[in-house]
Amino acid sequence: MIVVMQRTATKEQINTVLSKLEELGFRPHPIHGVVKTVIGAIGERTQHTMESLELLAGVERVVPIMQPYKLASKELVEAPTTVEVAGRTIGGKKLAIIAGPCAVESCSQLLETAHAVAEAGATFLRGGAYKPRTSPYSFQGMEEEGLKILARAREEVGLPVVTEVINPADVPLVAKYVDILQIGARNMQNFTLLREVGRSGKPVILKRGLAATVEEWLMAAEYILSEGNYNVILCERGIRTYETQTRNTLDVSAIPLIKQQSHLPILSDPSHASGRWRLVEPLARASVAAGADGLMLEVHPNPSEALSDGPQSLRPEKFASLVENLKELASACGREV
Ligand code: PEP
Ligand code: MN
Repeated sequence: MIVVMQRTATKEQINTVLSKLEELGFRPHPIHGVVKTVIGAIGERTQHTMESLELLAGVERVVPIMQPYKLASKELVEAPTTVEVAGRTIGGKKLAIIAGPCAVESCSQLLETAHAVAEAGATFLRGGAYKPRTSPYSFQGMEEEGLKILARAREEVGLPVVTEVINPADVPLVAKYVDILQIGARNMQNFTLLREVGRSGKPVILKRGLAATVEEWLMAAEYILSEGNYNVILCERGIRTYETQTRNTLDVSAIPLIKQQSHLPILSDPSHASGRWRLVEPLARASVAAGADGLMLEVHPNPSEALSDGPQSLRPEKFASLVENLKELASACGREV
C-alpha cells in the first residue's frame, strides 16, 4: 500500500509513520518528492491497518497498490525516475547511448573502441568481462583482467562503464570497478543475484529475460528495488519467437507498456534483439520513436574477428553515422542525443 503524506507533513510526522509501519510488520520505502512524501509499505495489508494509519497526523490517505509489483509501479511513483551515474542522467531528456564491444578482448581492442564511441557521442562504455555464453566451449570473458581494462578505459576516455555480473559472489568485486552493473537476459530471474545487486546500491541495468513477460520482468526489478536500491534501469533486448531470421524479436510494444506501468527508465538493445548489424539502426530508431530512454549498441573495431556477437556489432564508422542520423528523430520526439 501507499501512505501519502500531506504536503505540510513534518519530518517528525513522517518518522512516526515509518516507525508505526515497522511495528506493524511492514517494510517502508519513503520516497521524498518535490511536493510531498509518499511511503511504499510492503507487507500484508488489512482494511484495519489502512484505516488506523489514516488516523496518524500528517497522513493524507492510504491507498492499496493493485499491481503485484509495488515499488516498480507507477501507482507508487508517478513521475519518471531518473538514475544519476557519474554526473550523467538516465531517464531524462538526453538519450543514454551505451556502446562498446560484446566482450572485452584486449586492452587495445577496448581502448580503440572506447575512443571511437566517445568521439561519436556515446554517453557510456560497455564491455563484458564475464560472458554468459550458450556454449561452455565459447570464450567466457577476461574476468577481473577485463574489469581492470574497463576501469582503465574509463580513466583514459572519461565514459562511465557498464558490465555484466553473472555470479552473486562476484558482485562486490565487479561493483568496485564499474559504474553500472548489468543483469543479463539469462539471469533475469536469478533471484539471489538480483538481491545481491540490490544490496550493492550500484545502478543496475536489468535486461528482459528471453521468454519473460512484462510482468515477470517488473517483478524481477522489484527484487532489486525491495533491497532499497532504486537505481534500476530496464532494457528490452528482444524475446524468443518463432521467427528464425532474427536472433530474437524486438518487442517494441514493451517500451510504451513499461512507460504506462512503471516509473523506471527503459533502454532498448537492438543488437541482441536482431543479431544482425544491418537491422540495428532501423530498430534503434523505432525504439526512440516508441519512447525508449536510451540505447545499448554493440560496437567492434573489427566485427569479423570478434570473439562474440560479431554479426550484430557495428563498425565505429557505422555507429557514428547512426548517432548522427538519430539527432533529427530524437528532437522530433522531444529528446536529444
Ligand atoms: C550482452 O549485453 O552482452 C548480453 C549478453 O546481452 P543479453 O543478456 O541481453 O543476451
Ligand atoms: Mn553480446
